[in-house]
Amino acid sequence: MVTSKTFLVAAALLLALAAAQAIEVTPAQQAFRQIYQELVEINTTDSIGDTAKAAEAMAARLRTAGLADVQVLSSGPRKGNLVARLRGTGARRPILLIAHIDVVEAKREDWDSDPFKLEEVNGQFQARGSIDDKAMASAFVANLIEYAKEGFHPDRDIIVALTTDEELSDSPHDGARWLLQNHRALIDAEFAINEGGGGSLRDGKPARLSVQLAEKVYQSYRLEVTDPGGHSAAPRPDNAIYRLAQALARLAQFEFPISLNDVTRAYFARVASAERPDVASAIAALLAGNDHSLARLTQSPTNNALLRTTCVATMLNAGEAENALPQTARATVNCRLMPGQAAGEVEAALNRAINDPKVAVTPIGQAVESPPSPINPEVMQAVERISSEMWPGVPVIPTMSGGYTDSHWLRNAGIAAYGVSGLFSDAGSNGVHGRNEHVGVQQVYDCKEFLYRLVKALAGGGQK
Ligand SMILES: [Zn+2]
Repeated sequence: MVTSKTFLVAAALLLALAAAQAIEVTPAQQAFRQIYQELVEINTTDSIGDTAKAAEAMAARLRTAGLADVQVLSSGPRKGNLVARLRGTGARRPILLIAHIDVVEAKREDWDSDPFKLEEVNGQFQARGSIDDKAMASAFVANLIEYAKEGFHPDRDIIVALTTDEELSDSPHDGARWLLQNHRALIDAEFAINEGGGGSLRDGKPARLSVQLAEKVYQSYRLEVTDPGGHSAAPRPDNAIYRLAQALARLAQFEFPISLNDVTRAYFARVASAERPDVASAIAALLAGNDHSLARLTQSPTNNALLRTTCVATMLNAGEAENALPQTARATVNCRLMPGQAAGEVEAALNRAINDPKVAVTPIGQAVESPPSPINPEVMQAVERISSEMWPGVPVIPTMSGGYTDSHWLRNAGIAAYGVSGLFSDAGSNGVHGRNEHVGVQQVYDCKEFLYRLVKALAGGGQK
């Protein structure tokens, strides 16, 4: 008897605990969760996955909800993009909500759970794509359905584009690029909302909300020295490997000049108050146009990358045989250009730094030049207002990324892109692109709510 009473008390305690931990889920959140789960559980990796299947599943959801203007466009087998449009009055140009639905590879044996099953454990969703980028993708779909059901009649069309192949570098199927090149009219917009910004958690609490307005531009160069070669038993002073090594040594000493743009100015102005006093005063000096304390800032690789174009040797390849003088010596130098800088200008700077006509510098591929998006007051004020309602006191920070997203295609094509999601996570441990990608359940619901309010504010208008 004692045993069963103890058991009952323990069971009651467990139930109470479970109730205290459970998140109250509204019908709208429940509907969103089903979409999120369906999208996450369709494998959309390049190796065996299928983005066309995922796009079709989301299209079916939208059509069932009564949206008429919905299509799936494929650039090849297993490569699908969804484009859906909620019509507005047309008083203003459309807004584009873009999210990629392909995901980085994930192997069951590397993970603690099946990466293509949405697990909910300890208040966290765990699955491949639970953050990148299926949280935004499913929020856009769920919110578009809600707007349609409400009879929301915005001042501008709201376009949702779910795209493939963002995670593969240089894929001809990259949906953002492919749609711009082949179906521009379908996604043409005054501006776009995309991934690239997010919320960061510090000790589990929201610390800052980023709005990504710019990305550095990716461009690699090949450095090459050629030589007739010969027998290594009779070496000559001139040697392809030595020549390339000397060129690289000169490159190592070279730095591009400091350059600020509107976005990085705004970034430094906002973050200064949270920095140590010496760093804060170095930022103040920088913004005032004094370079006397620049070293204080540029000793941090992150800050250095925000302040200038960088080029760094990343690969080396030389010689043909152990007993032969090298006929070729090659290095790959990867550059990240300040947006707005021409790739040709960087090539000329590399040639000047290397200062040896026998070292040929050739671009590898072609840079996608993408200028920063203008700091649009309407977008920034809407983000600030909704953020202060949902996360009072959390600063909104304009950012420039060192890497790139599909926003580089949009900005290159003249469509301003804003990276903002309202999805808070700990970037150091959330498993994005790695194992056990996970994010707080409440944070995902908050992201959906943030985007619901933001898009509604930016689309304007009212009920039909
Ligand atoms: Zn992504």
